[in-house]
Amino acid sequence: MSPRSAKPVGELALIDQIRRTFATRADIHTSVALGIGDDCAILRPPSGHEILVTTDFTLENRHFRRDLHPAASTGHRCLARGLSDLAAMGATPLAAFLSLALPGPLLRTRDGQRWIDGFFHGLRALAQHHNTPLAGGDTSESPADLILADIILLGSAPRGRSLRRSDAQPGDALYVTGSLGGAHAELITLLEANRPSRAKASTNHPHLFPQPRLAVGSDLLRRGLAHSAIDLSDGLSTDLTHLCESSHLRAEIDAISIPLHPLTRRLTDDEAFHAALNGGEDYELLFSASPRKRIPHQIAGVPITRIGTLHPLRKNKPLITLNHPTGPVELKPAGWQHFS
Ligand code: ADP
Ligand code: MG
Repeated sequence: MSPRSAKPVGELALIDQIRRTFATRADIHTSVALGIGDDCAILRPPSGHEILVTTDFTLENRHFRRDLHPAASTGHRCLARGLSDLAAMGATPLAAFLSLALPGPLLRTRDGQRWIDGFFHGLRALAQHHNTPLAGGDTSESPADLILADIILLGSAPRGRSLRRSDAQPGDALYVTGSLGGAHAELITLLEANRPSRAKASTNHPHLFPQPRLAVGSDLLRRGLAHSAIDLSDGLSTDLTHLCESSHLRAEIDAISIPLHPLTRRLTDDEAFHAALNGGEDYELLFSASPRKRIPHQIAGVPITRIGTLHPLRKNKPLITLNHPTGPVELKPAGWQHFS
């Protein structure tokens, strides 16, 4: 097929399926003046707001395994990553755009169609939950037997007020939302079982169905509680390093204060701690706030835990010190690379 030939029927049918699956009542998404169907989408962000943009690749065998992850989980996680980035900056989702390359056999078999349906089902459920319309994208047959998806998310926030990782202040207290290590613990179980998971979307699947903290992020921004924030996608050790480097500060955190996810109980103590520090993909928020600000124990129903303090950089002091009851150790970034 030459690149100039007409779009194959498979792709047109798929776009039609997407349009039907993600059809929304025009009146509920006032920010989308024109969605799927024309050459471009037209967005109208609220006045006085600016636009935040993030993109994330979801590649088969890199970010998910077709033989282990339910299709709905892959659709959910694909959108969750970008929503978590918006949450970290205190933004509210405006619209999502999905570029999808699917292998020919997937488009032409019954099992393939089931996978596609499941993928859209998972994506749509999370999109609806966070009021995020799918406003466009691109669709193509994949040149290899690999599923590739790229999601672009646009969000909005009051002009000049987005939370950045670079705005932490010396003396700030450090907090995390929820609990850590659950995604890694669930992933270990999935890899060990080495068969397709039957899990359905619920809050108790931190790896398969992570819950981006959009309500916490926008609350932190609206109430002026935080100086800086970042989402925990690569693991606390790596993401805290990013925050420290961007803000030119060092951190001291207390090992015993780190909230461990209940799923880490099936691991040894060392493994549980490793999962919480380096496991990644928990999609919780890490933020800093003035020590004089009273930070609630819960925001939008999500527990908030103080884990440490930020300090001015000092020669001979590591970027991150982890204080154990037995004494301090240096914490180096050691986020985990999945399936690589
Ligand atoms: P064009 O050739 O003008 O770029 P397409 O035929 O690729 O348009 O797409 C037609 C419409 O369907 C566009 O509005 C586009 O945004 C939308 N679309 C195509 N693929 C997707 C997808 N994977 N997800 C969401 N919308 C899509
Ligand atoms: Mg066009």
